[in-house]
Amino acid sequence: MKLGFVGLGIMGRPMALNLLRGGHTLIVWNRTPAACEPLRAAGAAVAATPAAVASACDITFAMLADPAAALAVACGPAGICEGLAAGSGYVDMSTVDAATSSRIAAAVAACGARFLEAPVSGSRQPAEQGALVILAAGDASLYDDVAPSLDLLGRKRLFLGEVGNGARLKLVVNMVMGGMMGAFCEGLVLARAAGMEPNVLLEVLDAGAVANPMFRGKGPRMLAGDFGVAFPLKHMSKDLGLACGLARGSGLDPAIAAAAAAVYVRALAAGDGDLDFSALLKTVAGEGAGH
Ligand code: NAP
Repeated sequence: MKLGFVGLGIMGRPMALNLLRGGHTLIVWNRTPAACEPLRAAGAAVAATPAAVASACDITFAMLADPAAALAVACGPAGICEGLAAGSGYVDMSTVDAATSSRIAAAVAACGARFLEAPVSGSRQPAEQGALVILAAGDASLYDDVAPSLDLLGRKRLFLGEVGNGARLKLVVNMVMGGMMGAFCEGLVLARAAGMEPNVLLEVLDAGAVANPMFRGKGPRMLAGDFGVAFPLKHMSKDLGLACGLARGSGLDPAIAAAAAAVYVRALAAGDGDLDFSALLKTVAGEGAGH
């Protein structure tokens, strides 16, 4: 099966490499062409447009920044939909809202092609290790056809039914994670402000009921001021905004997520969007010091 991959950022690059290493013929595209070079060096072909990828492939995967990027690549000029043949498949693994995903699904269906949304849980390292958790929804026959490829990318996959179900679940997951990081940052700042040693807080958190891989992995690096990017803060800010929209559209008042989202927006305004989302600590610490 000939596979395509568009969007070779932090996540897309290792995911595409895993498809290639799995023995697939792969054709790639990225808006900024330089990002294609590591894939070319590993044996992938490089196409000039998303349409050229889709027209040459049985199934094309995408891993794009946000709803605007996902729509532009799928439905814009020289986009995926200009290349899809009847019966071929498009698997969008970007984190977007359900309405965006449904618009892309409709455009793909209008080509006579099949669509699957498949956002992922897991960051740079799980992407490199083929250990993502994949939340798929949409065309069941396409899900079956791509299952072996998804297994090259992830350690767990779920099929959740209609388009939108994967997008919504992913946003809820990131709503929880974004709020957790906010509470973690405030705890670290408070520990120091109240005369405690933050490393001791890490040790105690890790020994108790709230122990988790995120605090364990990122905590020591955060205390050392290392915010090397795995999950960009700008994308967490996007996800919290979309999750708050989902909550309000469901008749809820997402008070905690909205409070966290506002702090991420301030971190973005401070220029920290391309750092890891754990760089929220800088904003929380700065604001704390200012009061
Ligand atoms: P990233 O490194 O910022 O990569 C974003 C990709 O989108 C790049 O290939 C970028 O192309 C492309 N892009 C952005 N705007 C575009 C546009 N208008 N037209 C065409 N292409 C465009 O992001 P990432 O971390 O790989 O994340 C990708 C997606 O996965 C996001 O939806 C994110 O929320 C989600 N996600 C990320 C993680 C993580 O830990 N990083 C985990 C789970 C899910 P250029 O190279 O030209 O900028």
